[in-house]
Amino acid sequence: MLMSQALFPTMRETPAEAEITSHQLMLRAGLIRRVAPGIYNLLPFGFRAVKKVEQIVREEMDRKGAQELLMPVILPAEPWIETGRWTAYGDDMFRLKDRHGKDFCLAPTHEECITTLVRNEVTSYRQLPLLLYHITNKYRDEVRPRFGVMRAREFIMKDLYSFDATVEGLLESYNKMYDAYCKVFDRCGLVYRAVEADPGAIGGSGSHEFMALADYGEALIAYCDACGFAANVEKAEVVPGQAGLYDVHPNVHPKMLEQKTPEAAGTVAPKPQRRKALKKVATPNVHTIQDVVDYLGVPVTDTVKTLFCWALRPDGTKELVAGVVRGDRELNLVKLKNLLGAVETYLAEAGEVLQHASVPVGSAGPVGLRGIRVFADVEVEAMTNFVCGANEEGYHYINVNAPRDFQPEKYADLRVVAQGDVCPRCRKERLEFARGIEVGQVFKLWTKYSEALGCTFTDEKGEKRPMQMGCYGIGITRTVAAVIEQNHDDKGILWPMSVAPYHAVVMPVNSKDSRQMEVARQVYAEMTDLGVDTLLDDRDERAGVKFMDADLMGFPYRITVGQTLAEKGVVEIRSRRTGHVDFVSPEAAAGTVRTLVEKALADVNGSK
Ligand code: ATP
Ligand code: MG
Repeated sequence: MLMSQALFPTMRETPAEAEITSHQLMLRAGLIRRVAPGIYNLLPFGFRAVKKVEQIVREEMDRKGAQELLMPVILPAEPWIETGRWTAYGDDMFRLKDRHGKDFCLAPTHEECITTLVRNEVTSYRQLPLLLYHITNKYRDEVRPRFGVMRAREFIMKDLYSFDATVEGLLESYNKMYDAYCKVFDRCGLVYRAVEADPGAIGGSGSHEFMALADYGEALIAYCDACGFAANVEKAEVVPGQAGLYDVHPNVHPKMLEQKTPEAAGTVAPKPQRRKALKKVATPNVHTIQDVVDYLGVPVTDTVKTLFCWALRPDGTKELVAGVVRGDRELNLVKLKNLLGAVETYLAEAGEVLQHASVPVGSAGPVGLRGIRVFADVEVEAMTNFVCGANEEGYHYINVNAPRDFQPEKYADLRVVAQGDVCPRCRKERLEFARGIEVGQVFKLWTKYSEALGCTFTDEKGEKRPMQMGCYGIGITRTVAAVIEQNHDDKGILWPMSVAPYHAVVMPVNSKDSRQMEVARQVYAEMTDLGVDTLLDDRDERAGVKFMDADLMGFPYRITVGQTLAEKGVVEIRSRRTGHVDFVSPEAAAGTVRTLVEKALADVNGSK
């Protein structure tokens, strides 16, 4: 490709619309342009990176015996109604009607479509297992589209579905995909962790997410290096008894936590306390937990907070419920959702709480709360004489004790794991935390969809049984963004070779110098012939501009044809990532770069 003929619009300034580096760089280096919130044009440079990721994904899926097909993105409502997801998907689903008034959606995912297909085409155990996938656009009307293609409303996903006759078969398919996902993300040059995950709207149970580690990542991961446990904090359980019984004292030095026993670790069991009389106290202008701590002079561990949430039921109706956790804890909405069997839980607005429960949120508490189901974290059960809101503006209760003063419908593990919590698997070490970008997720669906849609097969004994299913998604466009998030410097992108839109750029420094142009064209032609994805920067631009663009766009190698050609008869090969420079004769340039590119690809392809 000649740069003079390409649509590669780069920008010098950081666009105000972009908060995170990958989004900024995808705009500045000319990979994407916004059409509407969460909806993007993929420009030629960005589309090449996308196609590279797609190709890696294809190769790894095919290697596991999967077959590629293509399903439509406009899907009829009926199968979604049969599985209950027409309502359960809620506002995330883009819906439309055809000219006859029939309901359709823009596919947010394809379980319904593929299960219907396989139901109609596959009848016998002899035709199983099946691994089918496609790479296509998905549509989700995200509440908060942001970070460019990272959380978009239209994005490209690879989704694969496995169909097995037996549970063992499903586990085998799942493991195959888990393995393929590791290969895909290794080959994309990502630093990632596979973590235990909540299955969310997809359903089933048993799921892993692949998280590309990044400081700003939207997901929080809890992990334990001692035993290898790693989970999305939405999922990570709190070890019963550990919390509340052995609170970490604020004065404990982190070093002390490395020791094993609670005593040695400086954690202390709270002394049994006498239950004092419940009392309502005036707390003017006290609205937050911090206000309570400051105003009443109590430790935060002696407070609770009450959060009102909407629980969306599978039939589309919703209920306002209250979740109670210790003041310094966070309510885990996913755990609450699972406890309630809801399809979604989300925090209610202050106005809604006032309207439906007559409670000002800044003074909410479980005592005397009527007509609202209350669910409390297990830690709260062990607390004595604590403080909570009195459901009346300007008042709180002190010396609250359950069950004397309130009885929640249930105590359960409802809080988010936190610093200092013990690993729920080995129960020895404390959890560590990291942020991640979810680039892929694998799910065991068991028979959730095959039963709902009648996707059965006849087994060896002639009996009809539902197929065992799994589904496996990779966000292709999000993966490109994650690669950039992990691979950049202050000048621009540092593409891993495997995903780089072009492996190299050939740059005549002075386009008016006919000798430089001639050699550059020659080297470019040879590199292209050798299968190196190469650009020729033949633009009539200042050298500074060309160099800046090359750094911004991040070509792994730059072959500079400049002064040294006339002086010494050599051209320069420079690595974008290391800054290492080699001088070679123009005749040797293409071969040298090809070897470097092949080596870089072989390194990430590893066991390929
Ligand atoms: P998230 O929790 O980030 O909303 P999800 O769990 O809903 O994602 P899945 O249904 O597991 O997403 O979809 C499979 C993959 O598709 C995700 O792992 C992610 O890489 C990608 N993906 C999901 N939603 C988006 C989005 N809005 N924009 C870009 N990629 C997305
Ligand atoms: Mg997911």
